[in-house]
Amino acid sequence: MTSRGSYRRCQELVSRLTLPSPFSVDALVGAVAEQRGRPIHLHTLAPGCTINACGLWISTDTHDDIYVEENTTRFHRDHIVLHEIGHMLCGHTDNNDTAESGAIDRQELSRFLPDLDPGLIERLLARTSYTTEEEREAELVASLIRTSARAQQSTHPAGVLGELEAALGIRGEGE
Ligand SMILES: [Zn+2]
Repeated sequence: MTSRGSYRRCQELVSRLTLPSPFSVDALVGAVAEQRGRPIHLHTLAPGCTINACGLWISTDTHDDIYVEENTTRFHRDHIVLHEIGHMLCGHTDNNDTAESGAIDRQELSRFLPDLDPGLIERLLARTSYTTEEEREAELVASLIRTSARAQQSTHPAGVLGELEAALGIRGEGE
């Protein structure tokens, strides 16, 4: 169960976001980067990489990197990106709980991410040990973003479908 306080906090974080219209996860990444005033780079993890169940977020001094596993569906990929953005928005950093980090191997990390600075790997190892509560919050933010994107889209239909609906008089009832 996610506590009431953290649900509120996540809702507030998401409501402060300006969701792109039409919504796409890539456009959202751009919007979040703009809001934070620093670029977010998306990368893919090579297949077979077992350093993390899904995605990774690494924060450097100048930008943020999000790593997503390569062999996955578009929907799952989008969800991973939203989840990592959830960690980012919630400010889940500097966690010293190492309970979950046993599965992460430094050598494997440098094998899969050869361009990564060794100092970053240290931070990454620390970063992958989120608490259960933090994982729930990241999931919550991901689903709240999806929900508000859907709500926004149904009130402001964009593109061909919206025009078609307007032409057919489907839209506009009760507005
Ligand atoms: Zn997570």
